[in-house]
Amino acid sequence: MHPHHTVTCSFSAPEPACSEKNRIYSSEILLRFNIAALSPFIFHSFSPPSPAKQVLLALSGLPPPSLHLGIASAIAPPSATLLHRASLQATINSKKMARKFFVGGNWKCNGTVESVSKLVDTLNAGEIVSTDIVEVVVAPTFIHIPLVKDRLRSEIQVSAQNCWVKKGGAYTGEVSAEQLVDLGIPYVILGHSERRHILKESHDFVGQKCAYALSKGLKVIACIGETLDEREAGNTIKVCAEQLIAIKEAIGENWSDVVVAYEPVWAIGTGKVATPEQAEEVHAELRKWLAENVSAEVAEATRILYGGSVTAGNCKELAKKPNVDGFLVGGAALKPEFIDIINSAQIKVAA
Ligand code: PEP
Repeated sequence: MHPHHTVTCSFSAPEPACSEKNRIYSSEILLRFNIAALSPFIFHSFSPPSPAKQVLLALSGLPPPSLHLGIASAIAPPSATLLHRASLQATINSKKMARKFFVGGNWKCNGTVESVSKLVDTLNAGEIVSTDIVEVVVAPTFIHIPLVKDRLRSEIQVSAQNCWVKKGGAYTGEVSAEQLVDLGIPYVILGHSERRHILKESHDFVGQKCAYALSKGLKVIACIGETLDEREAGNTIKVCAEQLIAIKEAIGENWSDVVVAYEPVWAIGTGKVATPEQAEEVHAELRKWLAENVSAEVAEATRILYGGSVTAGNCKELAKKPNVDGFLVGGAALKPEFIDIINSAQIKVAA
């Protein structure tokens, strides 16, 4: 008989990838393999973080203990003999998961290889708070994504600014969700007001894009917001709700990979920022909408960002508001002050 060897697979969730109803699940699963069957491949495939992360992503939203065990069995290499799988320790941490602050930089249709490289250097050199308290994403143009992805520090993720509504093919000029996934891009911004208003993307179209991107494994920053006329007519919440309804009709209850960005159109690129009170008022209403129309859990867990002329000068006051979970930043994301905006996350920790 061959001696037995113990392989410990540690599934831990550094991000809310494995959360359900505000719970974070983590399991330690002990698998015993026949030593003769162990190969470098086995050690490689069980060494965190990448395979563990993939497993966690696959587990997202599902109850953990039995499933974790099932997955562990499933990923065991066929050459290995699974001798013992009873030693499952599942820790269900029912502590409410706080919404991690989120700062996105939307670089829009800006940049050259030279200026984008400089911006990456600036971001790489900046002192930023721990990823334990802030999630940071930047969205360069499609053509600059590979450059940014290769050179940017790993604490900052890369997003696309858009993607096609369905599977790629004969759609000249479009980039598909599959292509973004293939490139290892985790996020996509959808429904930005410049696309809704200039390119006439309808609420339904944006909803369908969200659904397709999510179905391919992308996380979505879904933008909504009213025009000045709509605000002055007292229709801010009605308009935002219509945009959310279209998203909900397309994605159903599946909001765990959605970040909502409330971006009043009158504040985007205008220098006219919403006051912290205006932002808080709308964010609280949006959270209420999510509670009433999706679920209390989704309302509690979904990050609602404010976007519209956010700068280093105004971000701290905005960040103090309880329903402001971060920012989507345009103009200031192209400047060194983006670092200060990222670091406004500290306000939440102090609060
Ligand atoms: C944006 O485009 O998402 C945005 C908020 O732009 P700005 O910060 O320039 O207003």
